Amino acid sequence: MVLSRLLDLLFPPRCVSCAAPGSWWCDECSRRVVPVGVAPAPGNGLDGLLAAAVHRDPVTRLVKALKYRHAKAVAPGMAAMLAPLVRKVPGSDVLLVPVPLHPRRLRQRGHNQSALLTEALSESTGLPMSTALIRTRYTQTQTGLGRAERHRNVRGAFDWTGAALSSKTVVLVDDVYTTGATLAACAAACRTKGARQVWGLVVGKR
Ligand SMILES: [Zn+2]
Repeated sequence: MVLSRLLDLLFPPRCVSCAAPGSWWCDECSRRVVPVGVAPAPGNGLDGLLAAAVHRDPVTRLVKALKYRHAKAVAPGMAAMLAPLVRKVPGSDVLLVPVPLHPRRLRQRGHNQSALLTEALSESTGLPMSTALIRTRYTQTQTGLGRAERHRNVRGAFDWTGAALSSKTVVLVDDVYTTGATLAACAAACRTKGARQVWGLVVGKR
């Protein structure tokens, strides 16, 4: 695209992790990623958890870039990290569902990083996505909360507003998995509406 080439000329891309010029995510940082794959026994109401990487540098910087700056630039590359993992989900009726933000948080941030990630993943894999999962309650940030507090904070905060999910395998897409509290609450909302299986798919796992 002409415009993006022009922007690259005016603002040459630099690696969001090490600032090396040339691209938003350099080969050197890419080689430092510690892969996870299928995470063992996730619990939290999930049938399985798939994680692209251990959540530490340089992946933490990549996730930060998706959340706060350069989101559109890094989303396709991060989706490429998730694409081989989503193929491991059993069943054919797979539906990609981003973890939603509350409208108030969405206004503050300007974009939902999980939705951007899911859009890029849907585009590259051809799998359908839905944004019918919504956050019905504003919750304080999970940062700084302990495991039990995190679960209490988000329990019952989500609702599936789309058609019944019977026979569907829902794949919840998020940037980071910490205690799984958010995915547990999302999974519960999807199961209430009939989802047969619910998987988690994340970039970084703490
Ligand atoms: Zn780099």
